[in-house]
Amino acid sequence: MYRFFNQETMNKLLHVIICSLLLSVTAEAQMKALIVDGQNNHAVWPKSTIMMKQYLEETGMFTVDIMRTQFTWMGKREQSFLPLAGVGETTDLDKPKTDPDFLPEFKNYDVVISNFGWQAADWPEATEKALEEYMDNGGGLVVVHAADNSFPEWNAYNEMIGLGGWGDRNETHGPYVYYTNEGELVRDTSPGSSGAHGPQHKFPVTVRVPDHPITEGMPEIWMTEKDECYAKLRGPAKNMTVLATGKDRSGKAPTDRHEPILMVIDYGRGRTFHTTLGHDDYSIESVGFIISFIRGVEWAATGKVTTPIPDDFPSENNSTSRKFVLQK
Ligand SMILES: [Zn+2]
Repeated sequence: MYRFFNQETMNKLLHVIICSLLLSVTAEAQMKALIVDGQNNHAVWPKSTIMMKQYLEETGMFTVDIMRTQFTWMGKREQSFLPLAGVGETTDLDKPKTDPDFLPEFKNYDVVISNFGWQAADWPEATEKALEEYMDNGGGLVVVHAADNSFPEWNAYNEMIGLGGWGDRNETHGPYVYYTNEGELVRDTSPGSSGAHGPQHKFPVTVRVPDHPITEGMPEIWMTEKDECYAKLRGPAKNMTVLATGKDRSGKAPTDRHEPILMVIDYGRGRTFHTTLGHDDYSIESVGFIISFIRGVEWAATGKVTTPIPDDFPSENNSTSRKFVLQK
């Protein structure tokens, strides 16, 4: 070969071959994911959106778009990440405000991921209806951490997420759902407020349904990174399966229950994956978060999971994390 091509030509040729191979592999496999964000009491949100986008793109299975409300809230701490979403200029306000022009084309996507949070302003009614229709017709929804705080008065949303917290949710929204220390699944209709957590810490997650595609192959118990163990969630909990629970060991736990951490919900012909993990960037760097998130997104999109459990997945006694490095 060297008689015919010099080194530079060979390098160019190799580059063309590798690029076209990569293109042919990804072109047929890629699913379309949409992350929606803009108003979240968790100031990490501009960064966590980019982290989740990168986690999904690195699998080679997804292309990821972002749609953001033109009015944002709590966007300042991580403002250097705002332009990376490629959504143009937005305006950060002192309090959340409805964006009348926020109307993502949900139907163009295999899966929609909500990175909204507590006190996010209501979406326009047409947008709510569009998400309901999208899910009725077999869409996929993923809610992360405080996204289950959003929209307490939107009944269909509460059904999509199964359980929610805060936002004045109470017994009128549905039962508390949890596991006891003896391993019994309880639906508790007693009156009371919804949403609580102790201080952030590393806590054990117990897999309750080991043969679901999302949890299959996970150790029975694995550790989170420093995160919040959401407690006292309540909601319609219709067609909902609790895949895994968390046990608050901070010493200041709001309950002595094993609280739902990973859930799946059937809504219409659609599928929801709900994770309460992901309070801040160090929580989102947890391998337990990353892998359950990728698997949950894949499952919400297709009903199947192909992502393996990696060697660095956490164990019963050790949490693991991957420091986030932004790919330019
Ligand atoms: Zn939080």
